[in-house]
Amino acid sequence: SVCFSTLHADVLEKTSKHPCYSADAHHKYARMHLPVAPRCNIQCNYCNRKFDCVNESRPGVTSEVLTPEHAKDKFAWVKEKMEHLSVVGIAGPGDALADWLFTKQTIKHIQALDPEITFCLSTNGLLLPEYAPEIVALGIRHVTVTVNALDPAIGAEIYQFVSYQGKWYTGVAAAGLLLHNQLAGIAYLVKHGVMVKINIVMIKGLNDRHIPAVVKKVKELGVFVTNIMPLIPAPGSAFEHLPQTSMKDLNTLRDVCQLDIRQMRHCQQCRADAIGLLYEDRSQEFRMCDRPQDG
Ligand code: SF4
Ligand code: SF4
Repeated sequence: SVCFSTLHADVLEKTSKHPCYSADAHHKYARMHLPVAPRCNIQCNYCNRKFDCVNESRPGVTSEVLTPEHAKDKFAWVKEKMEHLSVVGIAGPGDALADWLFTKQTIKHIQALDPEITFCLSTNGLLLPEYAPEIVALGIRHVTVTVNALDPAIGAEIYQFVSYQGKWYTGVAAAGLLLHNQLAGIAYLVKHGVMVKINIVMIKGLNDRHIPAVVKKVKELGVFVTNIMPLIPAPGSAFEHLPQTSMKDLNTLRDVCQLDIRQMRHCQQCRADAIGLLYEDRSQEFRMCDRPQDG
């Protein structure tokens, strides 16, 4: 396990202003997600990454995908209009690491404008073994990894395929490979001072009873918090006919897992282009297609 007192004071200071990592911060500090990473390298059965310019509010959805240059312009625009913008997150609409060059360029552009801003990334973890050293070198200290199962037989029910280094995997082989990379990546990040948050999608009858084991394992690896989220069946996804996880079941499970590690309970399952305080998404106000032109 990790002793948090050894973490850099600067990381703790940034964490206290991160609306997702700190329950105290979420009424005060705003975050913006930049949708610069459209592709994904796995297929989760609960996901349907469609994006369109209509008013959607499902997790991961976005109205537009931005190039790194446009993402920088959007950041400058929002920063000027919004007090207490403390965090820029890259959470898709695909996987932040599947489009690592876009993600990295975006981060570098924004760091050049504002060296103080805190970044966070959200990933399925498949490419963490490749990119964790670069993530650390870029100064990113907040990473979220979604880990839904330790048992590849359960994972095989959740993931349709994994595409890795030019090969396609399905079933238990896919889930086993994904898990292996997730665990190796999480261990590396924690060792290098990154605050890791683990998202877990609770799917009734599938992984719900297995989640305490997932939580124990990631606790052992030294993660900061776990965020157990309800399944919200996306239309068009393989799980579209499964029931939405009830808040009652979710909170009961969180109470059990709370005994092991702190639980995030204020997650809003934000869009990939969410902007503002967690409870007030202002993404529709800041669409690049509506942006006032310079000069
Ligand atoms: Fe969708 Fe994220 Fe799963 Fe990729 S990793 S399929 S973007 S939920
Ligand atoms: Fe924070 Fe949850 Fe929204 Fe991510 S999805 S920005 S963790 S509230």
